[in-house]
Amino acid sequence: MTAPRLTVVSGPTAVGKGTVVTRLSQEHPEIFVSVSVTTRPPRPGEIEGVHYHFVSADEFDALIAGGALLEWATVHGLHRYGTPRTPVMQAIADGRPALLEIDLQGARQVRDNWPDAQFVFLAPPSWEELVSRLVGRGTESAAQRERRLETARAEMAAQAEFDFVVVNGEIGQAVKDLVALVCL
Ligand code: 5GP
Repeated sequence: MTAPRLTVVSGPTAVGKGTVVTRLSQEHPEIFVSVSVTTRPPRPGEIEGVHYHFVSADEFDALIAGGALLEWATVHGLHRYGTPRTPVMQAIADGRPALLEIDLQGARQVRDNWPDAQFVFLAPPSWEELVSRLVGRGTESAAQRERRLETARAEMAAQAEFDFVVVNGEIGQAVKDLVALVCL
């Protein structure tokens, strides 16, 4: 058996990263899935410590200053998100494969700091499908949606930076493909 690794999954806005990773986590509790900290306020139904650790801007500053984050980024020019370092190190030390679902800026930071990590790009079946998922979500204003589309265009262009591509067409298949890579 090879040592468990850190896998980073990223991809464009609204490709369904959260859905795929939630399903993976339910079906494979042996895989450690990082819970990020964020300055974004919780959406209805989101639970502290499950979906995110929700913190204030000051608390986020303190985490950065204390070196507690493996990476962090301001996403969509709005809120800050980061990966707590200790739980990831602990999971790897315990022999569990670890998975981060983060944005592209964060993925680049991990690539610079953690050479052993592997990088998976979650891609939509097509650009048209991505746009329809983005619009279909309907939780954002028109301005927010346009900003997300712009981010998504740049994120799609970054696909070549990744080690593997998993297409999120049928979710069950995407989860299987991702698990196979995480447990490689
Ligand atoms: P949402 O606000 O919709 O939950 O997430 C917005 C974006 O933040 C997603 O693209 C997600 O990948 C990214 N994100 C979530 N957690 C982290 C993190 O810890 N670090 C970074 N860099 N991005 C994150």
